[in-house]
Amino acid sequence: MSFKEASKQRGLYLATVARNLRLSPHFVRLTVQGEDLERLPRHGYDQWFRLCLPTGDGPVDLNALPDQFGLAGYLKFKSSGLAQRVAVRNYTVRQHRPEVGEVDIDFVAHGDRGVAGPWAQRAQVGDQLALIDQGRGFSPAGESDFQLLVGDESAQPAILGILRDLPRAAQGLALIEVPEAADAQPVEAPEGFEVRWIDRSQSPARPGQAALAELRGLSLPDPPAVSAYLAGEQALVTGGRRHLVAAGWPKSKIEFVGYWRAGGAT
Ligand SMILES: Cc1cc2nc3c(=O)[nH]c(=O)nc-3n(C[C@H](O)[C@H](O)[C@H](O)COP(=O)(O)OP(=O)(O)OC[C@H]3O[C@@H](n4cnc5c(N)ncnc54)[C@H](O)[C@@H]3O)c2cc1C
Repeated sequence: MSFKEASKQRGLYLATVARNLRLSPHFVRLTVQGEDLERLPRHGYDQWFRLCLPTGDGPVDLNALPDQFGLAGYLKFKSSGLAQRVAVRNYTVRQHRPEVGEVDIDFVAHGDRGVAGPWAQRAQVGDQLALIDQGRGFSPAGESDFQLLVGDESAQPAILGILRDLPRAAQGLALIEVPEAADAQPVEAPEGFEVRWIDRSQSPARPGQAALAELRGLSLPDPPAVSAYLAGEQALVTGGRRHLVAAGWPKSKIEFVGYWRAGGAT
């Protein structure tokens, strides 16, 4: 599975907010619940989905959303009139408990601009939402590979999910930049993995730039037994990929996705 195959995934799941927990200075965890989530497939690792949120007043029939978000599903959504009443953003399954139909979602609380981040901060028990399954982006590498995982806080849920689900013999390094040390969460990583937290409050800059500087300063193992996963702010991801390619890492071994763009439009 990879990010390129997301549009082939199918599945619409309705849920409501069951709990809203302020995890740390910059994170809110929503637990969402619904019978539908008992049958959400478990892709593990960085499993992600399109989060569909009603934006206006009054009820919205979330069942009318497309169950696939490729080009056809997107066009259907845009032309249906629902696009004026439902916002769609991308999020990661932090934990899935199918036995009770629950999913935890960790939202970066990035202020009052945008839709999903502000919504999560004020979400109430019973608020409605829908998830469209997108599979996962991460593909586990060969056992002898050295794996490099790099991201900012928005990719913390994905990287911690990858570390949780990797075979215990996996080896590598994870660089995770967080706004401040208190935002770092407990990690279940394979023994052969180093997890390095980068605390942005020590040298405030555009999100992702401290992780990029750390990546550029690494003494990297030689290809070909390497693979990388880069996620987070766009400049971190593109700068990190460029650096690895210049160091001779095969493009085919670098999975990368820009999650958001600093200063980007809502
Ligand atoms: C596959 C995938 C999985 C993702 N998983 C998660 C996840 O589990 N948790 C998570 O928090 N995010 C995750 N993201 C990132 C999330 O989709 C974006 O941050 C998204 O822009 C949030 O939407 P919004 O409505 O809050 O803000 P938007 O309306 O998109 O943007 C509004 C403003 O907020 C700024 N902004 C957006 N995100 C951030 C941020 N993280 N930090 C600071 N400023 C920001 C933008 O630059 C813009 O100026 C994921 C993205 C992808 C592609």
